[in-house]
Amino acid sequence: MNSKKEAYFTRHLLQWNERENERQMPWKGEKDPYKIWLSEIILQQTRVDQGLAYYNRFVKNYPTIKKLAAAPETAVFKLWEGLGYYSRCKNLIATAKFIANNLNGKFPDTYDDILKLKGIGPYTASAIASFAYNLPYAVVDGNVMRVLSRYFGISTAIDSTEGKNYFTALANKLIDKKVPALYNQAIMDHGATVCKPQLPLCTTCLLQKQCVAFKNDEVRQLPVKEGKLIKKNRWFYFIIAEYKGGFFIRKRTGKDIWQNLHEFILIENEKAIDPVTLMSSEAFKKIAGKKHTVISISKNYKQQLTHQTIHGCFIHIRVGQKPLLKDHELVEGSKLKQLAFPALINSYFATEGRALTVQNL
Ligand code: SF4
Repeated sequence: MNSKKEAYFTRHLLQWNERENERQMPWKGEKDPYKIWLSEIILQQTRVDQGLAYYNRFVKNYPTIKKLAAAPETAVFKLWEGLGYYSRCKNLIATAKFIANNLNGKFPDTYDDILKLKGIGPYTASAIASFAYNLPYAVVDGNVMRVLSRYFGISTAIDSTEGKNYFTALANKLIDKKVPALYNQAIMDHGATVCKPQLPLCTTCLLQKQCVAFKNDEVRQLPVKEGKLIKKNRWFYFIIAEYKGGFFIRKRTGKDIWQNLHEFILIENEKAIDPVTLMSSEAFKKIAGKKHTVISISKNYKQQLTHQTIHGCFIHIRVGQKPLLKDHELVEGSKLKQLAFPALINSYFATEGRALTVQNL
């Protein structure tokens, strides 16, 4: 790799940014480290168009880090609802409290201190350091690695440790130290709008003349990925046990998925099973007791997570006595909407289970 090629890359990327970059981002040019942090954490979870509403809600409800730190955790989780990866929301709250209580509400202003914060990795630390304080730390994510791997013709796997180290070193070599914030924004935008995963706009790309992948007709082969994710299937049967107008609900606290979200009584099965067969199982009988009425059995719902697919079915029953459950509490139907639920259960509420949340049965 020669330095001429590297200089060409940085120069033309900045030229493209000045002449052609029309990507609008509501937080573009934002200097407040708290808001940059919020936008980056939200964008790790979802696309820009969907993330915008979350970002606006967070900023409106908690305009400062002190306000976020002082907020009731349930309210913050409710605002996060739908974004997934609830451990990230937990870290968000913990870090806000740490900054408010230990640093007098002032966000750290060096890369190393930002990186020490809970839930903040190298990517977010670089984004905050460069956008808020104009420090020369290059952001390196999938977008950035794709542009670099194609332009320089690098076939080291982007999801390997070796690849990550290599691309990080290269990105930090390429960053324009006079305008790090501008450079970082430019490479992120270029990856998102020109050097896209599918159908990149090579014919009009300002980097094309020196792009190795374009010259060698390897654009579709780069970047290279090492491991493909093996998805696991799980089958969840939720028993909506109704008792005197309320439902038995618990908060998930374990290290498994959906931490801090709520759910009905759950029977998990290792494979798909007919709900009628499930209702003859000992586990179901223990919950339903001798006297119960089956009100409805839902269709199948599905939620796709990064490493697993959750299949869900809802069996609504009316029970004559309280099931013997350790960690569930009886919640009135009208209060259900105040709790945060996973997307799978919310899909049920939005369709077949609508009546549960709007009326006291
Ligand atoms: Fe990406 Fe194509 Fe531009 Fe090369 S020419 S940097 S592959 S958009």
